[in-house]
Amino acid sequence: MKCQICGCTDDKACPGGCTWILPNLCSNCENKVPLAIYVGPTYIRGVDKFRFECPSCKHRFNRVEKNLGITKCPGCKNYIKCLKKKG
Ligand SMILES: [Zn+2]
Ligand SMILES: [Zn+2]
Ligand SMILES: [Zn+2]
Repeated sequence: MKCQICGCTDDKACPGGCTWILPNLCSNCENKVPLAIYVGPTYIRGVDKFRFECPSCKHRFNRVEKNLGITKCPGCKNYIKCLKKKG
């Protein structure tokens, strides 16, 4: 695994140590990325997708369930965190 923000890995953690919050986001960087707003699921050919809205530019985009994590917004190119709404 590798953090998309700082580039740390299992072999080379951040100074002082860090843990994985998401498969591509470490605990040191958790506060550096805004959380995308979950706006609802979409169903395309049986694949569950989740629709998110970027908190900065309001761009809406889809994420496939297994790829939830941090991603670059297609609109503003900033990193944002995509989490499925709990419950
Ligand atoms: Zn990091
Ligand atoms: Zn780290
Ligand atoms: Zn954006």
